[in-house]
Amino acid sequence: MPNIILLGPPGAGKGTQAKRLEDGRGMVQLSTGDMLRAAKTSGTEMGKRVAAVMDRGELVTDEIVIGLIEEKLTGAVGGGFIFDGFPRTLAQADALEALMAKVGQHLDAVVEMQVDDTALVARITGRFTCGGCGAVYHDVTRPTKVAGTCDVCGSHNMVRRADDNEESLRTRLMEYYKKTSPLIGYYHAKGKLVGVDGLAEVDAVSAAIAKVLDKT
Ligand code: ADP
Ligand code: AMP
Repeated sequence: MPNIILLGPPGAGKGTQAKRLEDGRGMVQLSTGDMLRAAKTSGTEMGKRVAAVMDRGELVTDEIVIGLIEEKLTGAVGGGFIFDGFPRTLAQADALEALMAKVGQHLDAVVEMQVDDTALVARITGRFTCGGCGAVYHDVTRPTKVAGTCDVCGSHNMVRRADDNEESLRTRLMEYYKKTSPLIGYYHAKGKLVGVDGLAEVDAVSAAIAKVLDKT
């Protein structure tokens, strides 16, 4: 199965599409944001160290996230990885290449989800997720069918992220443009970059990603 990166600013729809690829194709989402939030919730030493940085919307250190990805990739059987929110810096991109080579895998495509900044505030401030299975919802564009109940797993534990507010989003966007957007040129130069319209409806975005995957 192909290995891909979903690249795009916060709210571009990476998590939404990654979940669909897991359900539809049996691919495996590797979200460093989810891993860091899990560490935060379970109160590990590392989780405590990164909590304030994440809430402000800044990036945590390369060393921490590379370590998290290395743990997941080491000993992983098969491929089909969807990197969601990783890499976010050129150092992380280089580390990923080395790690993939070490586990006998390679990166097939980098899908850049192109969106307009003005859409992101509404997306981020309306986002909530299921604490049980991670399904992604939105107050306006994708509410649960029954208020407070996950459509997928029936959990009543709906969560909103501490960093999903306008102030933190401003910092996250700045971090994206300063540190992550250079990856667009990096992967273009490697012939791996494919752009999709992230402003399209969820199904249309999925169809565009499916096209990319079917070509790999
Ligand atoms: P990311 O993982 O890139 O930060 P998410 O997948 O969590 O983004 O999506 C952010 C918010 O936008 C969620 O509330 C989600 O329901 C909504 N969303 C995702 N994709 C679309 C889309 N194509 N059209 C409208 N809303 C979307
Ligand atoms: P996300 O869930 O991808 O929106 O990430 C939430 C937050 O986790 C970010 O704002 C960062 O603080 C941190 N984070 C997630 N992935 C990375 C990464 N690859 N590098 C640095 N920080 C990260």
